[in-house]
Amino acid sequence: MTADVSIRNATKVFGTFRALDNVSLDIAAGEFIVLLGPSGCGKTTLLSILGGFIEPTSGTIAIGGTDMTHVAPAKRPTTTMFQDYALFPHMRLIDNVGFGLRMRGMSKAERDDKALSMLDLVGLKTSALKKPHELSGGQRQRVALARALAVDPDVLLLDEPLGALDLKLRRQMQDELKAIQKRVGTTFIHVTHDQEEAMAIADRIVVMNHGHIEDVGASSEIYMRPRSLFSAGFMGEANFLDAKVSGICAGEVRVETALGSAVLPMAAFTAGMPGEDKSVTLCIRPEHFRSGGEEGETVTLGRARIIDSAFFGAHHRCHLRAEGAVDIVITAHLPQTAEPHVGDVLDLAVPADSIVALANGKG
Ligand code: ATP
Repeated sequence: MTADVSIRNATKVFGTFRALDNVSLDIAAGEFIVLLGPSGCGKTTLLSILGGFIEPTSGTIAIGGTDMTHVAPAKRPTTTMFQDYALFPHMRLIDNVGFGLRMRGMSKAERDDKALSMLDLVGLKTSALKKPHELSGGQRQRVALARALAVDPDVLLLDEPLGALDLKLRRQMQDELKAIQKRVGTTFIHVTHDQEEAMAIADRIVVMNHGHIEDVGASSEIYMRPRSLFSAGFMGEANFLDAKVSGICAGEVRVETALGSAVLPMAAFTAGMPGEDKSVTLCIRPEHFRSGGEEGETVTLGRARIIDSAFFGAHHRCHLRAEGAVDIVITAHLPQTAEPHVGDVLDLAVPADSIVALANGKG
């Protein structure tokens, strides 16, 4: 089963500390949403409000169109899966997975049937009679998922469920989690501080910082068109360059930077157009620097000298120091086929439509 979720102006204050500050978010039924942000940004607080373990100080939560703000956890159509997914060590997998159904009074035959189909879903049907200690960490994690889904929640809340796994297993489980979510169609709301995990699994990512939402969108949207400086920096690597708006004309905006001036399309201003003379920060992803010869509108931000270079398989990761009076170091990922050498001087050329410009509060 599945349901939509609507969060309206949710605020949570602990003493004088605002852990969650006026958060509003609409989640469609069947979406895989990831709450992403650094430690302490309020992800778990929001998840706990959805699960009913914490009451918001103000604001409302609706699931499937029904107000759930003051409804007890057991009465909500949600299940929460925590990182320390405690399985009962003395119980076989089939009984672990069927446990929630037993609590709901389902007959043994029915719950064994359901538990087996859930174990099948996570690829562990043939291990149904094993006990948790006979499994690997990743398999135990899959059992926990089967148990959480066995009670047919409309919304599954997952709090860093892959946090205890080593990196390789974690990557594998991310793919499995995504595939299982697509198969069952349940709304998943998943908390992590790992940007790559978010990109691997989410339909939409919600970037959080200091108790509020900075950005919401598909991973490609947030990466390519971030709407806040925080979100640009949290979702992958970016070069940030201070600039001032010096002219707005015919759908284009001229900005001045320490590396020279550039003309940007209006669309570069993803969070809205600032006025003339306003300070902005340009965000440029390292892979957008071109080594020359490409088609399309290109902005050239002076020249720079390669000060170090390392080969990373898919690209060369180079640091370049701008030529001239300014002390600016740029990170660029040059194509695999480029042959960068320390000391080479390159144009800092970037496609105009790859630059994002955001107000930076400096005036
Ligand atoms: P992490 O990834 O470290 O779990 P998080 O983004 O999930 O972080 P939360 O657990 O939601 O963050 O906590 C947000 C802030 O609220 C933190 O600064 C935390 O210390 C504070 N906080 C959470 N619960 C309480 C509480 N019961 N009393 C006081 N402060 C709390």
